[in-house]
Amino acid sequence: MQNISEIEELIKLISKLPGLGPKSAKRIVLKLINNRDELVKPMASTLAQVYKNVTRCNSCGSLKSNLNGCVNCESLKEKYTKDLCC
Ligand SMILES: [Zn+2]
Repeated sequence: MQNISEIEELIKLISKLPGLGPKSAKRIVLKLINNRDELVKPMASTLAQVYKNVTRCNSCGSLKSNLNGCVNCESLKEKYTKDLCC
């Protein structure tokens, strides 16, 4: 494979993921490039969404979407309210 800086950068990033070495990263990147429309495009927008919307809850540390409340805290609250009223 030619040394294309964008590709090298992507391989470097992907090889930081758990369980993936440079060899697997290269295979993943090739797969991505060969499936630009099916993989790269939706992945780029999904990653952007995750970056924008998914954070850790300040109260309990669970992952949550900023579009919704924390599922963990909501269920605790529900349990607590039930305990109080029944
Ligand atoms: Zn929470």
